Amino acid sequence: AGATADRSTGGARLTVLAGPTAVGKGTVAAEIRERFPDIWISVSATTRKPRPGEVHGVHYLFVSDEEFDRMAADGELLEWAVVHNLAKYGTPRQPVLDKLAEGRPALLEIDLQGARQVRERMPEAHFVFLAPPSWDELVSRLVGRGTETAEERERRLETAVVELEAEKEFDVTIVNASVREAADELVKLIRSPSISGKS
Ligand code: 5GP
Repeated sequence: AGATADRSTGGARLTVLAGPTAVGKGTVAAEIRERFPDIWISVSATTRKPRPGEVHGVHYLFVSDEEFDRMAADGELLEWAVVHNLAKYGTPRQPVLDKLAEGRPALLEIDLQGARQVRERMPEAHFVFLAPPSWDELVSRLVGRGTETAEERERRLETAVVELEAEKEFDVTIVNASVREAADELVKLIRSPSISGKS
């Protein structure tokens, strides 16, 4: 989609957390939401249906396909992607720019396609890859979650094989062996002024 650079970020850093499906990105983000309320986490728009316990405006903005397409067409999304061939997910642009302008650290928890789009538009962001401790662990987490049908699970595993290879595109990797430690490590990065020579 058309790329315009968004560089007026008021000094605060944007951190993008991506990684393979079911690695626990959402769990790490939830841990940060609970323990580090000063870190703002973007609320994505999605066309998928809410799962039990998910709240509109907190976990996602649950929108119709028509509304999502309108947001994308009107340039309201910093990035968006169809994830697992199932639903559209996208990051509303303005809230991210507002938070950074306020000097508040911001975190995006998105898929790899989205992370690549953000890198084109905001190359100064931190790009963090969340990796599973092992492939077996990734598979058992995906099966254990029990929220997908067998067909969906199969599709997510196929995606995960490709996704694991993307690690090399990232500034830094965090291994998600313990959610608490992964969250601590990520928060340290979010608050650090620079990684990999970026300033
Ligand atoms: P879930 O449906 O399990 O909540 O999320 C499925 C996938 O969508 C996860 O890999 C998550 O990172 C990704 N995702 C969530 N929000 C966004 C977004 O705004 N943009 C993109 N590109 N991916 C997202």
